[in-house]
Amino acid sequence: MSRVQASEQCDAVVVGSGPNGLAAAVVLARAGLSVQVHEAQRTIGGGARTLDLGLAPGIVHDICSAVHPMAAASPFFRAFDLAARGVQLNYPDVSYAQPLDGGRAGIAYRDLDDTVDGLGPDGPAWRRLMGPLARHSPAVVDVALFDRRSLPTDLLTAAQFALSMLEQGTRLNGIRWKDEVAPALLMGVAAHSICRLPTLTAAGTALSLGALAHSPGWPLPVGGSQAVIDAMVADLEAHGGTVLTGAEVTSFDQLPKARAYLFDTTPRALARVLGDRLPAAYRRAFDRFRYGNAAAKVDFVLSGPVPWAHPEVGRAGTVHLGGTLAEMSYAEAEVAAGRHAERPMILASDPALFDPGRVVGGLRPFWSYTHVPAGSTVDVGDTVQAQIERFAPGFGDLVVERHTIPAAKMADHNANYVDGDIAAGAMSFWQLFKRPTLRWNPYATGVDGVYLCSGSTPPGPAVHGMCGLNAAQRALRARFGIRSLPSLAPSVDSD
Ligand SMILES: Cc1cc2nc3c(=O)[nH]c(=O)nc-3n(C[C@H](O)[C@H](O)[C@H](O)COP(=O)(O)OP(=O)(O)OC[C@H]3O[C@@H](n4cnc5c(N)ncnc54)[C@H](O)[C@@H]3O)c2cc1C
Repeated sequence: MSRVQASEQCDAVVVGSGPNGLAAAVVLARAGLSVQVHEAQRTIGGGARTLDLGLAPGIVHDICSAVHPMAAASPFFRAFDLAARGVQLNYPDVSYAQPLDGGRAGIAYRDLDDTVDGLGPDGPAWRRLMGPLARHSPAVVDVALFDRRSLPTDLLTAAQFALSMLEQGTRLNGIRWKDEVAPALLMGVAAHSICRLPTLTAAGTALSLGALAHSPGWPLPVGGSQAVIDAMVADLEAHGGTVLTGAEVTSFDQLPKARAYLFDTTPRALARVLGDRLPAAYRRAFDRFRYGNAAAKVDFVLSGPVPWAHPEVGRAGTVHLGGTLAEMSYAEAEVAAGRHAERPMILASDPALFDPGRVVGGLRPFWSYTHVPAGSTVDVGDTVQAQIERFAPGFGDLVVERHTIPAAKMADHNANYVDGDIAAGAMSFWQLFKRPTLRWNPYATGVDGVYLCSGSTPPGPAVHGMCGLNAAQRALRARFGIRSLPSLAPSVDSD
C-alpha cells in the first residue's frame, strides 16, 4: 500500500483508486504528468481488492471482482500487458456453469465443441449463436467496450451481435432452444446485469461475456484481483505518481491545485464534491442518473472443494446459481420490484481450484454474491447457503466461516456502490448511452478540467480500465494539448 502526503500542486489529481481511477492515473503519468491519486479507503483498488477478512489465518477474499474476462480482453489491459508484469491469469477449462435440479447442468467450456456436445439437442443452436461471436471475439470486445459515441470497427460483427441481442433480449429468446439447459446457461450470464430478464442490456452482457468464455476464456489472477491493482500501482509509481489512502474527498477545496481532476466516483458523489461549481444542467442530469438493483456479498471459508451434484461444475471458474431461465426471470423480477427472492440469483467462485496457493492449512476461500433489492439490510447468508446446498448437497458441512455484507453496507467499503448497486448505475438500455449524460463527451462535467472516469461512464462496469483510459485521453487533449496516447507497454526496466 502507498501512503504519501498530499503535495501542494500537481498536474492531475485522480479521486478514487479503482481500476478506472488507476487506469486514468497510469495514462496521465506515462504522458509525463505529475499525478496524485486520493483514495477514501485505507486499501487501494476499489472493486478489485483482495483482503484478509479475518476469517481464517492466511485466507484472503476478493471482496468485489474475482473473475476477469474484461481485464483479459480490454484494449487498456492488452496494451498494459499484465502477463509481462508478472500477473498470472489462469484460464479454467470450464469458463462458467449453470447447475440445475436433478444433478443436471449447463457447462460452458472454453472449447466451443465440448460445449456444443454437452448441450445435447441445443448444441447446434448454441454453435450458431456463439460460434461466430467467439470467432470474432476482439470485435465483440470492441462492441462491448466502445465509448458509445463512435462506431465499432467491425460493423458486420456488430450487426450480427445486435441481431442476436434483439432475439435474446426480448420474448423471442426461447425460439431457438428445444431444452431448458442452454437457455439457462446463457441467461445465467445475462444476470450479471442485475436487472429484469430478458432485456437488451442483459442480452448484450450475455453475448459479449458468452463469446469471451470460448475465446479467450474467463481468467482468475493468481493471488486474487489485487494482483492486477498492484501491477497498476507499481507502474504508476514507476512514472512518478503517488497514491494517498484514507483520504475521502468531500469538498473540492481539499484537493491540491491541478490542471485536471478525474473522479473515479459516481455522479452523485461528484455533485456533492463540486457543490455550486457544478452547472445546473449537469446537476439535473446527475440527479436523474438512476442507480440499479443491488448485490449482497457472502464470503465463505471452506474445508474442501464444493461437492457439486454435477461433477463438471467443479471445474468451472464461475458458477451461476439461479436454476432455469423461468426461475431466474422470476427472481430478478422480484428484486426489481423491491422484494427478496426466495431462490435468488447467486454468482460464485472457488479460486483455489485454479490457484492452489489460495489453500492455507487445508482451508480455502469461496466467493459469492447475490442479487437483492437496492438498499436491502437483510443478512442473506442462510438464503445463499441454502441455494448452494440445493445444487451441492453437503456444502454446509464444509463451511468453516461465513461473512456477509448486506447491500446497504456495501458503500461502507466503496462509496460507488450506492445502496449496494455494484454497477455504479443501473444497466438499462438507455443508460448505456446516457452514462451519465447524453453529451458528446460523457466524461465532461461542465466544470473546466473536471472529468468523471468511473464505471458510471461508458463503457460501464467491470474491470477493464476503459472509462479511465477514455477520460484521461480527453483530459490530455483538452488540458495539456497532448493528442497521442502514451505507450502503456511495460518498460524494459519495469520489473
Ligand atoms: C461483489 C462484486 C463482484 C464483482 N465481480 C466482478 C467480476 O468478477 N469481474 C469484473 O470485471 N467486475 C466485477 N465487479 C465490478 C467491478 O468491481 C467494478 O465494475 C469496477 O471495480 C469499477 O471500477 P471503477 O474504477 O470504476 O470503480 P471502483 O472499483 O468502484 O473504485 C472506486 C474507488 O473510488 C473510491 N472513492 C469513491 N468516492 C470517493 C471519494 N469521495 N473520495 C475518495 N475516494 C473515493 C472508492 O473507495 C473506490 O476505491 C464486481 C463488483 C462487486 C462489488
